[in-house]
Amino acid sequence: MELQQKIDLIKNNETVAMLAPTFAIDFKYPNIIGMLRRLGFKEVTELTFGARMVNWAYANYIKDHPEQELFIASPCPVVVALVKTQYPDLKKYLMPVVSPMAAMAKVHKKFNPNCKVIFISPCWAKEIIEAPKYKEIDAVITLKDLKQIFEKEKIKEEDFTENYYFDSFIREYTKIYPVSGGLASTSHIQKLFKEGEIFITDGVENIKKVFEEFKAKTKPYKFLDLLNCPGGCIGGPAINRQDLSIDQRKEIIFAYTHRSSEATMGEHEGKVKDAKDIDLSTNF
Ligand code: SF4
Repeated sequence: MELQQKIDLIKNNETVAMLAPTFAIDFKYPNIIGMLRRLGFKEVTELTFGARMVNWAYANYIKDHPEQELFIASPCPVVVALVKTQYPDLKKYLMPVVSPMAAMAKVHKKFNPNCKVIFISPCWAKEIIEAPKYKEIDAVITLKDLKQIFEKEKIKEEDFTENYYFDSFIREYTKIYPVSGGLASTSHIQKLFKEGEIFITDGVENIKKVFEEFKAKTKPYKFLDLLNCPGGCIGGPAINRQDLSIDQRKEIIFAYTHRSSEATMGEHEGKVKDAKDIDLSTNF
């Protein structure tokens, strides 16, 4: 979809923006919420509640499969593609659970079947590989696209100085999901495994090494939390601020997490009961 088609989609429909928390590396919070509303979005939310639901589904799946020897987290489409193409014998270990993007889109379509859901992404893989699998996702706009759109539409960060709030379904503690290890540390799965069985890494060469170690049975891995980009999604290639180091980006995400937590979630908080009946399973 061309950039102009994406702009038209936003302006001519009842659109919901789902922001990956990596947005904070490129845009100021809460200004971004006002900017997206000016662009034409009717609702602006984060993926955080989707991540909460994915955590819930992961824990349930692990408890239901006590005999399974390995679980590979599957929110990164590049990791999924790597397993499918280069390690097909490990495909059976990919967690058959949708990503936070798909989970959150399903939540929005449950409560408003007529809305158009657009994900704001730190990478192109979400748009090209993953989103086409799900009818609930109408479009993906990368952070690089979004910067261009704001420039084209003359929407400037400094013009949005009010204290804007996300519209619905947010959860605070999963904002660190895009940092490598965010999934393992927020999903409460630690108590399901022994020390050393959970392993977190990022970057394709590190991931390949881990797969080889598992196959050679030299490590006690049971749960692998893997993200393709350096440092996790904060290293995504469609982030504008490629000049910042991974440590600087991490600091920004932690500062954003702290800042936005000061806002009371109240009616905006997503609750498990809102989404318990949604099918979060998938296959690869
Ligand atoms: S790790 Fe990179 S490729 Fe994978 S979902 Fe995150 S930003 Fe996209």
